[in-house]
Amino acid sequence: MTKYDNYMNLQIEALSKNESFARSVVAAFCVELNPTLDQINDIKTAVSEAVTNSIVHGYEGKGGIIDISAYLENKTVHIEIKDCGVGISDIETARQPFFTTKPEQERSGMGFTVMESFMDALEVKETDGGGLTVKMSKNLDVNKNQED
Ligand code: ATP
Ligand code: MG
Repeated sequence: MTKYDNYMNLQIEALSKNESFARSVVAAFCVELNPTLDQINDIKTAVSEAVTNSIVHGYEGKGGIIDISAYLENKTVHIEIKDCGVGISDIETARQPFFTTKPEQERSGMGFTVMESFMDALEVKETDGGGLTVKMSKNLDVNKNQED
């Protein structure tokens, strides 16, 4: 990891009741950068999508550990959500809008698309030893966003 201004790590059991806890912890960690309400909601939504994926796809509802870490670097928050579940054989295809392997559970296949649109950068890769790691980052500089 590169030089950072602040860092946090949280491990949770892959249970749906822990999803709102996880997104709130990450959002609270970002508060020192004075994000707007919209930025906080974007981060919460993106974290929620990644954690839900680890619960329902990675561990297929059978449980396991989800490792969530975040660090602040200048005005940017970097977030990593890692599971040691089944993983994805074709990550590029899985990232396409509307691609889902669980249509019977009324999944719409929009999780990765939501993460990509709400954050500034998204990287999806295999966890060392198997599973999935999602890395995303967002610049919380209000002035920069006003210029955009
Ligand atoms: P939605 O998020 O809209 O409810 P979804 O979860 O199927 O539907 P995405 O979040 O975009 O859609 O994920 C696309 C597909 O990638 C999933 O259907 C699943 O096959 C695979 N996937 C996503 N995350 C993981 C993960 N952590 N482990 C294993 N497979 C995953
Ligand atoms: Mg999803």
